[in-house]
Amino acid sequence: MKRVLLLGGTGDALQIARQLASRDVYSLAGLGRVPQGLACAVRVGGFGGSEGLARYIESEGIALVIDATHPYAAQMSANAAAACRAAGVPCWALRRAGWTPQAGDDWRMVDGWDALADAICPFRRVLFTSGREPLSHLDEIPAHQFWIVRCLDAHAGNERARIIDARGPFDIDGERALFALNGIDVLVTKNSGGAATQAKLDVARELRVPVVMLTRPALPAVDREFESPAQVLRALSEEGVQ
Ligand code: NAP
Repeated sequence: MKRVLLLGGTGDALQIARQLASRDVYSLAGLGRVPQGLACAVRVGGFGGSEGLARYIESEGIALVIDATHPYAAQMSANAAAACRAAGVPCWALRRAGWTPQAGDDWRMVDGWDALADAICPFRRVLFTSGREPLSHLDEIPAHQFWIVRCLDAHAGNERARIIDARGPFDIDGERALFALNGIDVLVTKNSGGAATQAKLDVARELRVPVVMLTRPALPAVDREFESPAQVLRALSEEGVQ
C-alpha cells in the first residue's frame, strides 16, 4: 500500500486525516491545535523548504503527497509541488472553491496590506477575519478607527483594538450579534470558501456592509485537483490507497 503525506492545517484536511491509516502521515505547520486520536502519524513543523520536503518524501518512502493546506498558504503549496517533482511522486491538491459575490454584495478586492489599509480608510469600525496579519499593525490604527480582529491567536489588544481569539464554524446568529454589538461598518476577509465561515458574508450583505477581500494567491499546477475532502477520499479509494 502507498504511504500518503497529507499537508494540512485546515478543517478539510482533518476530515481526510481521520480516514488515513497508521502508515500515513498528517503534517501541520505547528500554529494551531494538534488533533488527537488519529490512526495516522502526526508530525508538526516545517520541512525546511521544498528541498527539505523532497528529502523527507524520499527518506520516508512517501508515494503520494496531498496538499490540503489553506488556499492562502501559497508557500507550502509551491513547496509541495516542487518537492514532488524533484522526488518523482504525484502531488494532489484539495483546492476548495472560493466564495463568489451575490446580489447586494459590495466587495472591494485588494492584493496586500497597503491596498487593504487604503480600502478601509473611509470606515470607523473594522472587523478583520483575515488571520493574524493585523496584529502586527496594531500601532498603526488611525485615530478615527477601532479594530475588532478575530483570529486564532490569543493576543493583547489596545485602546483602539479588541482581539477575539475564536475558531469557526461561526453561525449566522453569532455573526449578527458580533456585527451589531461592535457597530461594524466594514469587514476584511480572505476568500477562504466553504460553509464554516461564510455567515459573516451573509450578515455583511444583510446590513449593506462593504467587504474588503484579499485576492487569492496563485497556486502551482498539480497532478490532480479536488474540491472537497469527499472527492479526495473517493480518489484514494479508487486508487486502492485507502
Ligand atoms: P505558508 O506561508 O504557505 O507556509 C510557510 C511555511 O510553513 C512553509 O514554508 C512550511 O515551512 C511551513 N508549513 C506550512 N504548512 C505546513 C504543513 N502543513 N506542514 C508542515 N509545514 C508547513 O503557510 P501559512 O499561510 O503560514 O499557513 C500555515 C498553516 O496554517 C498551514 O498549514 C495552513 O494550512 C494553515 N492555515 C493557514 C491559513 C491562512 O490564511 N494562510 C488559514 C488557516 C489555516 P518549511 O518551508 O520549513 O517546510
